[in-house]
Amino acid sequence: MTEILYMKDIDSNYTREFDAKIVEHGFDYVVLDRTAFYAVGGGQPSDTGRLVWDGGSAQVREVTKKDGPKHHLVQNPDNVPDAVKGVLDWDRRYAHMRMHTAQHIISGVVYDSFRARTVGNQIYHDRSRIDFAPVTFSDEMLAEVEAKCNEIFSRGTPVNISTISRDVLEREVDAQRANLDLLPKSVRELRVVTIGDFDVCPCAGTHVRSLSEVGKLRITKRDRKGKDKERVTYELDI
Ligand SMILES: [Zn+2]
Repeated sequence: MTEILYMKDIDSNYTREFDAKIVEHGFDYVVLDRTAFYAVGGGQPSDTGRLVWDGGSAQVREVTKKDGPKHHLVQNPDNVPDAVKGVLDWDRRYAHMRMHTAQHIISGVVYDSFRARTVGNQIYHDRSRIDFAPVTFSDEMLAEVEAKCNEIFSRGTPVNISTISRDVLEREVDAQRANLDLLPKSVRELRVVTIGDFDVCPCAGTHVRSLSEVGKLRITKRDRKGKDKERVTYELDI
């Protein structure tokens, strides 16, 4: 198994470089004993970057998970020595962190205002989207969501990451608001992202330390995706 360096607390999400050992050389990948690279999943793209060593380096094109180990896809994995330094493409990863924290706030605001749940989401570095149901948005409703989110961002609330038992979480949160009811019952310990007293949500993604880092929300598009499902696309201005 690979130790995941961004799981334990919010500060660990800011790890840009790390030392690691190679535990497996595959056909088009290597497996590291520890990594700060995010593996694609949960609507957040993989991190990209480089593995570097004395006299060489390899581009990490994507990181995928297969049954636990994280596969760092590189060209010529046999050329990668046993000890490397991992270096993330930080601008891209930091954009994903801002987008992901924004997504939690937007999802919370839409649930609180209209009781519509988040049924899908996809983050990119330059724009992101969230699918909501059941809902039919009007322009006024989305203007209200945008204004409310920007007001919340302006509070600069700290973002925290912790591990909480499912029993405790079930007592303390609205299971539908946190999408807790969608997680397999077998998962008893959850990594939870807490944003002040506004939001508590199980999540394995990467986040910023404070809402002051998110930027300003601009909702750019709304698409009908089904009978009562709508897709909202957004960007973040600095
Ligand atoms: Zn999340």
